[in-house]
Amino acid sequence: MTATETGSRLWNISTNPSTSPTPSAERDAILANPGFGRNFTDNMVRAKWTADKGWRDAELVPYGPLLLDPATNFIHYGQAIFEGLKAYRHADGSIKTFRPFKNAQRFAASARRLAMAELPEELFVASIEALVRQDHEWVPTDAEKTLYLRPFMFSTEIGLGVKPADSYEYLLIASPAGAYWPKGLKPVSVWLSDDYVRAAPGGTGEAKCAGNYAASLIAQAEASQHGCDQVVWLDAAERRWIEEMGGMNLYFVYGSGDSARLVTPRLTGSLLPGITRDSLLTVAADLGMRADEGQISVEDWKEGCESGEITEVFACGTAAVITPVGEVKSRTHGSWSVADGGTGPVTSRLRQELLDIQTGVIPDRHNWLHAIC
Ligand SMILES: *Cc1c(COP(=O)(O)O)cnc(C)c1O
Repeated sequence: MTATETGSRLWNISTNPSTSPTPSAERDAILANPGFGRNFTDNMVRAKWTADKGWRDAELVPYGPLLLDPATNFIHYGQAIFEGLKAYRHADGSIKTFRPFKNAQRFAASARRLAMAELPEELFVASIEALVRQDHEWVPTDAEKTLYLRPFMFSTEIGLGVKPADSYEYLLIASPAGAYWPKGLKPVSVWLSDDYVRAAPGGTGEAKCAGNYAASLIAQAEASQHGCDQVVWLDAAERRWIEEMGGMNLYFVYGSGDSARLVTPRLTGSLLPGITRDSLLTVAADLGMRADEGQISVEDWKEGCESGEITEVFACGTAAVITPVGEVKSRTHGSWSVADGGTGPVTSRLRQELLDIQTGVIPDRHNWLHAIC
């Protein structure tokens, strides 16, 4: 039984775990080579919301299939949101998560945008504590391996009427994760999407919702057809301003050494406000680098690389941490490479610093870690 005090409210998550968990030899084999999002732990947490009773029935239960009525509202109209964060094993054996209340706040903001019920932040974090404590043996011990946590929520009202649903289900599942990119920390090539946009002003770009991903897949496929690893999104109105790369935010490095300066596209409402992005603004400043939010156009990117003013570009997000961008291709703006197309020193330094904070190698100077067990 896990209980988290929230001042006025106490969230109880009743615990009814699997009675036939994965044998340890089998689990160890999975943890030796987990990949990403392929294997799941023995249990999950779920909770229900109904308009009349609010949130209730939070419980930890064996991981398993869901039974859905074919007229379940979200399958048709897409009220579905998710989050992604990780549990890290530290050298002393303890397990921590990174800024989970930030994910909880963003989850609530995503719910508001999709006219869904908001999960209380304390229940979100309590669900993570309950699942990670129960399935703690699934948190890998090797460096660079983590337990990826996937909270998500969808409407469960049955019926084809188009309106905000009167019932929702929240679920939390967990998946051991190795390096996100199977080929290692190798710069990616990106395709500038001239034709498709991810998000428009007034749309759902700020929400972490399933539909944003559905709408992005065709552009990702187009990127692959052009030999690129990832798609880069431009703003919908002018098709000029750089927004994001796939499911990650972007950073541009100007200059080098002591004069290195970072710029990340500012949050206009159509970008997803990444927690890694936010953390790096602080980490860069800690390391004595200026880091600002700004606007970068396609021409700025191309000319900056040609003049040598832009020395590095990288993408950031929870799943892959930091990924260098080496090459840019597009249909209407030509192709160019970022410096020599390799991994630059600022990218490597920031990546190491952030990983060291997350894994407890250096002090948690901003109180970002949340101890679980
Ligand atoms: C989740 C996500 C990110 C990264 O957010 P983090 O909180 O850093 O993991 C960036 N862009 C999109 C579109 C995303 O869905």
